[in-house]
Amino acid sequence: MPTELVFRADPYAKSCPATVTSVEPRGVVLDRTVFYPTGGGQPGDQGLLRLADGTTLRVVDAVKGEGPDSVVHVLEPGASAPAPGTPVTAELDWERRHRHMRMHTCLHLLSAVLPYPVTGGQVAADKGRLDFDIPEATLEKEAVTEKVNALIAADHAVTTRWITDAELAQQPELVKTMAVKPPTGHGRVRLIEVAGLDLQPCGGTHVARTGEIGRVEVTKIEKKGRINRRVVIGFADNKL
Ligand SMILES: [Zn+2]
Repeated sequence: MPTELVFRADPYAKSCPATVTSVEPRGVVLDRTVFYPTGGGQPGDQGLLRLADGTTLRVVDAVKGEGPDSVVHVLEPGASAPAPGTPVTAELDWERRHRHMRMHTCLHLLSAVLPYPVTGGQVAADKGRLDFDIPEATLEKEAVTEKVNALIAADHAVTTRWITDAELAQQPELVKTMAVKPPTGHGRVRLIEVAGLDLQPCGGTHVARTGEIGRVEVTKIEKKGRINRRVVIGFADNKL
């Protein structure tokens, strides 16, 4: 049975009531969840499952399960999983997830500032990176930092819409990230749009407006190959 992915419609949902549907060797599957499972360069969420009697089970990771849209909640070692049918409340470590949302959205802006093919990427709670194929040799950290911060400060709206797999196939230019294939095969694909700046298929979680990201700083530009450049970006406050 697929899991209802609450974070897809509402990335700001911090908790939701749910029922255990199955227990797998890796962890617990619920009928609905706010936990984003590892994928698309964004880490799986952490948090807890709260039982009716108030006891809590720590969720140390969330990963994709077997079925479509199935999410496995990985419990801390030694924890005993609640039986199928048990009602729980799924609660996120919200501060960590919000940092993922801010940094993930920031990487969309970075890809708008550097309009080159993206060959890889990774989001973390304190930093993020994108790998680009860039023909030119020079790329200034300070210049990229200021351009991204200008887009953040402009407080652009970040919106989502859905198109069919067939519509996406007719617009291959939408797919910028060659390393992360868009999640096709469900009949439709979700597009993330930063108005006028960026439009691409993405299954991750994003903030609603770019101003919510806060100031960032390009900390490193590494040469990974003849034309490959890794751009690492962190929050300017950089506190965890
Ligand atoms: Zn995204």
